[in-house]
Amino acid sequence: MDAQPQPSRAARAAAKAANSGYPESVTRLIEELARLPGIGRRSAERLTFHILKATKPEALALAAAIGDVKQRVRHCHVCYNLMDTASAEGHGLCAICAEPERDRASVMVVEQPKDLIALEQTGTFKGLFHVLMGRISPLEGVRPGDLTIADLLGRIDDPAHNLDTPVREVILALNPTLEGDGTALYLAGELERRGVRVTRLARGLPTGSTLEFASKAVLADAIEGRRPMI
Ligand SMILES: [Zn+2]
Repeated sequence: MDAQPQPSRAARAAAKAANSGYPESVTRLIEELARLPGIGRRSAERLTFHILKATKPEALALAAAIGDVKQRVRHCHVCYNLMDTASAEGHGLCAICAEPERDRASVMVVEQPKDLIALEQTGTFKGLFHVLMGRISPLEGVRPGDLTIADLLGRIDDPAHNLDTPVREVILALNPTLEGDGTALYLAGELERRGVRVTRLARGLPTGSTLEFASKAVLADAIEGRRPMI
C-alpha cells in the first residue's frame, strides 16, 4: 500500500514560519540552532538575531567554518582522534599517531577528543590514545557496540592495528562519573582477559567532574598516580 504523500521539508518549514511570524529562513536558522546541545529555543532566537546583525562576511565565515569541519575533518584510523585531512598526508594518521618518538606500547583510553586534548596539554603522557567516542550508557541506549571498543581490542589483539607495536599497558582515562566508571570496569574485564596491563587515572579528579574542565596540574597528577584497574 502506498504511503500518504508527506509534505516536503520546505513546505513544512513554510507552514511553521507562518505560525512563528518570522520569515521562513529565520525560522529555519532558529530551528537548526535549537537542535544543538544546551541551546533552547530562546537561546537559538538570540543567536539568530546576533547572526542577522553581524556583517555578511562574519556570518558567511561561520557558515564556511561549519562546512569545513564536515568536509575536512576525519577520525584517525588507529585512535579515532580528530584530524584535518589536509595535514594527514595520505597516511590517515593523526599528528599523535604519526609522531615516531611516542611510546606506542602505551595506549590511553578517553571518551572524547576534547579529553585527549586536555590530557595531551599536560605534556606528561608520551604514549598513544584511543578515543571511544562516548561511554556506555544503558539509560541513553549506548551499548559497547556503539563505541570504538572493538577497534581498541583489535589494537591489543593484533599489533598490525597498533602501528606494528604490541600494546603493553592500557590506561583508562574515563571521566570519574557513574557511566565513565561503568565503562572503565567493562573495558578492564575485556582487556585483562587479553593479558595486558590495565591502569586507571588516580582519583585526584573529584567524582562527578569532567576531564575537560580539570586543571593541567590535576590531570598531570592523575596520569602520574595511575593505578591498576582491579
Ligand atoms: Zn591517531
